[in-house]
Amino acid sequence: MSALRDRPITIVGAGVAGLTAACALARRGARVTVLERAGALRELGAGLQISPNAVRVLDALGLWPRFRDISLRSDRVELRDSAGRMVARLDLDRQRPQDRFRLVHRARLVALLEAAAREAGARIELGHEVTEPPRDCPLLIGADGVKSRIRPLLNGSEAPFFTGQTAWRSLIPAEPGAAGAAQVFMGPGRHLVSYPLGRGLRNIVAVVERPDWQDEGWSLPGDPADLRAAFARFGGPVPGWLAQVENVGIWGLFRHPVAAHWQNGRMALIGDAAHPTLPFLAQGAVMAIEDAWVLAACLDADPDQAAALARFQALRRPRCQRIVEAANANARNYHLRGPTRAVAHAGLRAVSRLAPGHLAERFGWLYDYDPVTATEAG
Ligand SMILES: Cc1cc2nc3c(=O)[nH]c(=O)nc-3n(C[C@H](O)[C@H](O)[C@H](O)COP(=O)(O)OP(=O)(O)OC[C@H]3O[C@@H](n4cnc5c(N)ncnc54)[C@H](O)[C@@H]3O)c2cc1C
Repeated sequence: MSALRDRPITIVGAGVAGLTAACALARRGARVTVLERAGALRELGAGLQISPNAVRVLDALGLWPRFRDISLRSDRVELRDSAGRMVARLDLDRQRPQDRFRLVHRARLVALLEAAAREAGARIELGHEVTEPPRDCPLLIGADGVKSRIRPLLNGSEAPFFTGQTAWRSLIPAEPGAAGAAQVFMGPGRHLVSYPLGRGLRNIVAVVERPDWQDEGWSLPGDPADLRAAFARFGGPVPGWLAQVENVGIWGLFRHPVAAHWQNGRMALIGDAAHPTLPFLAQGAVMAIEDAWVLAACLDADPDQAAALARFQALRRPRCQRIVEAANANARNYHLRGPTRAVAHAGLRAVSRLAPGHLAERFGWLYDYDPVTATEAG
């Protein structure tokens, strides 16, 4: 018998975390209400890389066939220098040939999750901004993103710090037949990531070190000319891509600590509300999806809500901490300068040539993790 059957649960926020949790909880019988401040679930144009650790959850929720249809298979990550020359290649298929590294437009993923949550019986109230936590609610899930209102209730006020990095994101048309590869072009103090998303679109995220800080939200409009100027010395396909940029968003990258307290027996945090991350390992939405499954499985397995939430935090916090730290380290590695950069690139080239599986193997702890069996293991 499911411990979740008919239990009322309120979720604040209908992003990737909130919608996946709504789906996972409602499928196990909970009476879920999602409160979302936006009047419509319109997503910013941007892409996401979704790795197998999250796809296992989508599969367990019965969503894999629909997700496969809206996403593109990714078979490799290419690390290139600013001239476009190959430095190293991570063959994703070599280690994990199950077709489960995917590239997807955020809007399509959110639409899929919204439909799945509603089909499972969750109620989604749009245009409902939560300013005070509802008092009559036995379980409140804060899935309200990086500027969460629920997180300070559990952790007090915390100040993030600006990393000195500013990022642009843009969508451009993809060239016909573009390979499902994520390419990272690394230059001194800056890098640019690009991959196709299917349906004729290519995603671009470009990061530079700049001491003048920007707002943390990522919907501020930027100037395409600034982006082109910042990457004017880059070669390969980059100039051609940037010439096509018409609209660009800009935002400052901030580092936040992983929350110390994820729950208090009546409230819990998931997704960016618990562990905002820099985008350099492409795991923010992936961790949100993992969180959602593990939270639902813990609550379902134990009718003692406080014990279930404590187990949820114990399962999730160390893993998310490790992922956030790995993303921080990538920020440094991509932007090396001078002799350090030459040595590091030579080392990567050698490893990539002599032991091509090695780079992908180093991420086994990340991509081979299965949230479904990890939760069953007790
Ligand atoms: C440029 C960029 C690239 C990225 N690339 C990747 C990638 O390749 N792979 C990956 O896995 N991740 C990636 N991420 C990270 C990923 O986008 C986030 O980690 C993820 O979207 C977090 O989901 P969330 O549901 O926790 O938060 P959000 O998506 O921020 O959703 C929070 C929701 O809560 C709502 N809300 C907020 N406050 C309230 C309130 N008071 N009342 C009601 N509703 C409220 C908001 O309107 C929003 O809908 C990237 C991020 C960026 C910026």
